[in-house]
Amino acid sequence: MNYVGRFAPSPSGPLHAGSLLAALGSFLDAKHHRGRWLLRIDDLDLPRTVAGASDAIRRSLDCHGLHWDGAVVYQSSRTNAYAAALAELARRADLFYCTCSRQVLTAHDQLYPGTCREHRLPPSSPAALRVRVPEQEIRVVDLLQGESEWNLARTSGDFVIRRRDGLFAYHLAVVVDDAAAGVTHVVRGADLLDNTARQQYLQSLLQMSTPFYLHLPLLRGADGEKLSKQNHAPALQDAAASSNLVRALCRLGHQPPVELDDATPTVLLAWATEAWQRTAIPRMLTVADAATDRSTAALPIDTADDAAAT
Ligand code: GLU
Ligand code: ZN
Repeated sequence: MNYVGRFAPSPSGPLHAGSLLAALGSFLDAKHHRGRWLLRIDDLDLPRTVAGASDAIRRSLDCHGLHWDGAVVYQSSRTNAYAAALAELARRADLFYCTCSRQVLTAHDQLYPGTCREHRLPPSSPAALRVRVPEQEIRVVDLLQGESEWNLARTSGDFVIRRRDGLFAYHLAVVVDDAAAGVTHVVRGADLLDNTARQQYLQSLLQMSTPFYLHLPLLRGADGEKLSKQNHAPALQDAAASSNLVRALCRLGHQPPVELDDATPTVLLAWATEAWQRTAIPRMLTVADAATDRSTAALPIDTADDAAAT
């Protein structure tokens, strides 16, 4: 098989230690298997897009030696493809308009209760478009996290494929883009694991093949929350690329040998590409790890290095 992998950051801020894990893990898994590694900027949600973030992400990847293959794809330029997929879905699945308020949905704990299933025509007020889901187990096979069964009727309910504000939903976009790019392996953070069953359902409706999935351990902050732009994870310092990489490699279960202490990103990545083993990756990461990231963010590089050697 010709392996095609990808990294698909949302440009809501610069790369941080958590997103570096996803970038590095997907890169190494692709390169170890002599595959291609693509970069897609998930800037569909323009309201959440931060000016300059996508440039900063590309620059940071370059400084860390994470060079992608081919041209960068921007989701904001792909709306025709999403519209075509939506038209096809309308032929193959049960889609309906939903006018439920956020309060109603929150009251149901995000499990959509099916309230608007009878709305066949667009209502006069703005409406989201949902796809009906079957009462049926969907099996997700993850190369790291193992197998799980999901019954969408009980976990998400009928889910949104076009939002009330007219934007295509992430699930539809990601499935259409991965298929168009011929992606064979999706390696991403474990926060996205519970999206996978919905994405597999869309792939089956659209008659697309399902890629292999591998969900990497998440880096959590001291508060137990995923390290993210929203909870102010510090931006990666491009000048400290090598030590950032060493720390991320250790977290992914691949500690470089001491001879590589002062190595450049290119040398570190060449070593890691050969050494890469999925079985070495931990399924979960501890909180303390991420806490050092925050407290050392402002310290000189060598101090941060010490903290990394855990
Ligand atoms: N853009 C999504 C995110 O940053 C990831 C999409 C994916 O990897 O499937 O959370
Ligand atoms: Zn509704």
